[in-house]
Amino acid sequence: MRTLRTGAGLALAGLLLTLAAPGAATAAPPIIPPPFGAELPDSYGQTPRVSGNLGPMPQLPPAPRPVPFSAAAGGEYAQTVLRVPVNGNVVFITIDDGGYQPPEAARVLEEAHIPTSLFLISSPAVQHADFFRSLQPEGATIEAHTQSHRKLKGLPEDVQRFEICGSVDKLQGVAGRRPTLFRPPYGEYDLTTLKVIQSCGGIAANTLWEGSVIGGTLYIAQHAFGPHNPLYPGMILLMHFTPDFERDMHVLLAAVAASPGFSVGRLEDYIH
Ligand SMILES: [Zn+2]
Repeated sequence: MRTLRTGAGLALAGLLLTLAAPGAATAAPPIIPPPFGAELPDSYGQTPRVSGNLGPMPQLPPAPRPVPFSAAAGGEYAQTVLRVPVNGNVVFITIDDGGYQPPEAARVLEEAHIPTSLFLISSPAVQHADFFRSLQPEGATIEAHTQSHRKLKGLPEDVQRFEICGSVDKLQGVAGRRPTLFRPPYGEYDLTTLKVIQSCGGIAANTLWEGSVIGGTLYIAQHAFGPHNPLYPGMILLMHFTPDFERDMHVLLAAVAASPGFSVGRLEDYIH
């Protein structure tokens, strides 16, 4: 069963990446897949919700040694990555937005003891730079998610450039390292988005996701995670900076722990 699942996962990953591959500038434009799973807006102005009895944070085995995958496209368009081609049972945890800063976040990341990628809106990230910097020693890497979380699809190139490259520049100032990945708000983008990402400099991929924690449940492609809707190697999972930060991290780690042999890898070790 495990072999079948793994094989199917790798085959699917190959398919998805092939669909998204832009090729050279003269090749046909990339096919844009629909967004997978909803992206929730931030819950602004709230305080951490009482978590109830979550129990100890699920502990996971260390990730296998990464085999880097070059997503950098030579043509006019950045490549889109939905699932990472990997050679082991590894998934990735990403945390989006940042308009709300959970006071418990550093402690939760320390207890979780896993690498995370933070796709931040640069406006609140600049305003609360110390908060986000405090997460870096806990395994978090800061990546870009626009300046103001506007839906990019259909916007003129200069506006998309302001949102995308502007956020990369500002987040470089926050993180002390230039982001290497970009994620479009709501998972929605167009060819202009891919062109602008490619032109910003140093961004390896337009990075989507397949699993998302919504209301305390992990959904994978619109259905709840479970024995009939499992994790596959290379999946990118998403949660948000909300008052439910601790609960949502438990939900993600519990799903990984329930998947025999799976661990959490650092996305930036795999995508270049
Ligand atoms: Zn977002």
